[in-house]
Amino acid sequence: MSRTVYLNGQYLPESEAKVSIFDRGFLMADGVYEVTSVLDGRLIDFDGHAARLERSLKALDMASPVGRDELLEIHRELVRLNGIEEGMIYLQITRGAPGDRDFVFPDPAETPPTIVLFTQNKPGMADAPAARTGIRVITIDDLRWHRRDIKTVQLLYPSMGKMMAKAAGADDAWLVEDGKVTEGTSNNAYIVSGGRIITRELSHDILHGITRKAVLRFAREAQMEVEERAFSPEEAKSADEAFITSASTFVMPVVEIDGTPLGDGKPGPVARRLREIYLEESRAAAI
Ligand code: PMP
Repeated sequence: MSRTVYLNGQYLPESEAKVSIFDRGFLMADGVYEVTSVLDGRLIDFDGHAARLERSLKALDMASPVGRDELLEIHRELVRLNGIEEGMIYLQITRGAPGDRDFVFPDPAETPPTIVLFTQNKPGMADAPAARTGIRVITIDDLRWHRRDIKTVQLLYPSMGKMMAKAAGADDAWLVEDGKVTEGTSNNAYIVSGGRIITRELSHDILHGITRKAVLRFAREAQMEVEERAFSPEEAKSADEAFITSASTFVMPVVEIDGTPLGDGKPGPVARRLREIYLEESRAAAI
């Protein structure tokens, strides 16, 4: 079924939504994005995603083409028009199409940003079979740029990382810099040791995950111990359990790192419990 998408103020059939070949998102990866999950036809943590979008735009000196209320309205309208019960809304804003290629940023008064949103229908997303078996990850060098806190559309290396994982018979890759795990290709990374949840502290080195923020809050509320610090692949391999978080996978157990099984090779109790709490609380707070 053809989707209805949003492009620069219009709701259009996907086949009619066209972006210029001069768009800086296309030519220079000069754009930012967000992915917001939908459960029960409602948006999970919309405010968190809207706030991070504003932060990303500001860091790149880009103005938002829409305010937060209008953005919420567009998200809801796309959910409605496409009948999404479970899935995601992808949003991208680029520095627009100046009509030629130039490294210098165009004058924003002459070149408006491009804004695109589309839905991804994923029935059964909250009940993903992978959450019952856990996933396997490999570790690879983190070769990305040094402002990973800005959610840009420069996703070539993360995409290559997923391909490297696939080639190695694994599900995903954890990125390693200076001997420490930064994060997953498209998720934040955690280990659990002696009952403590350990995840890298916030800095320019990682994306400030919206799911990370919520999960750490729920963990603290449930009296679980949280330690925000970097860990090495070796420490991870000897941990009791591990997991990742992202808007589309929620809390996903990791059962193997570089071929080394964690614990008994099954999803651990902390990851399973956090997934349950996250889904329950997020559904209750969805708008
Ligand atoms: N790190 C990276 C590199 C990501 O791409 C993502 C998902 N976009 C995350 C972490 C998780 O962020 P969120 O929980 O906001 O989806």
